[in-house]
Amino acid sequence: MILRAATIRPLPVVLQPVRDELLSSWLRRHAAFYGVSGGAMLRHCLPDLSSPRELDLSLDRASQKRLGDLFRCDPFVIRGMTHLPRATGTRPTGLIATTRPMQVCKRCALRHQAREHTRDARLRSWMVGWRLSCPVCGASLQDARPLDVLARVDATDPFLAGVASHAREGEGIMTRALHRSGRLPEPLVELMRVLLLPSSDAARGRHPEVGIPRLLEVVLPGFDRFMQRHYPTFLRPGTLLLAISVRIPVLVGLAAVMRHPAGWIDPLLSAAHERAHGRLAACFEGLATMTG
Ligand SMILES: [Zn+2]
Repeated sequence: MILRAATIRPLPVVLQPVRDELLSSWLRRHAAFYGVSGGAMLRHCLPDLSSPRELDLSLDRASQKRLGDLFRCDPFVIRGMTHLPRATGTRPTGLIATTRPMQVCKRCALRHQAREHTRDARLRSWMVGWRLSCPVCGASLQDARPLDVLARVDATDPFLAGVASHAREGEGIMTRALHRSGRLPEPLVELMRVLLLPSSDAARGRHPEVGIPRLLEVVLPGFDRFMQRHYPTFLRPGTLLLAISVRIPVLVGLAAVMRHPAGWIDPLLSAAHERAHGRLAACFEGLATMTG
């Protein structure tokens, strides 16, 4: 079949999206079904789109409607397959991959691989930097970035295994916050960041064997040595799309702080560089407005 871009004509066969599927993945599966390239399908559906990345991250309303017409579904459904900012605000800063999935649920991937028309489906949760488990089947997500795969720490590492249940508690806090308001509260994202800030020079002096001691060590003793052992070159959280084995302890710290935020202000302030005090205080003020 030859796809022509001139007019909007509903596709004769519309494949069902799999649960939690990304819009770009759904379109690519249609391309495979019709025997055309992904680019040809995209030009047919959205000739004005400047980059395929826009599909999952910044699709405008007119394009949502056009896709809804072509695939005979509500534009709301199209929107739900993306990581577009919710009506209440912007995308959770730094917690959504900006180009492509960074992790994978192997159980879902295998299931989709087994059926011709769902092969290579990619899921929304594979771009989310605070998840540990698949929202569809519950299996643990695994790193897919080549660097993270090379440096992957075995999930049975005693440090990670010992805190696994607390990490799930942290993931649950993020999930519930997202469901409550439709977006992740910025103070929670900021808490993930501040827990990875370097400690003060005094703390550094007490642990000369650790390259960069971090505030998370105050909440979760053993974190610094874990990082020194497995990620000695880790400098800063960057986009917060942390390797899963770094994300686990960060979510453990988040869960511990969120159990009693006020109780952690002084211990963290006394371990932090003076120049980070304002930032820490603002983070805890934000948390107080969430929990109060
Ligand atoms: Zn899964």
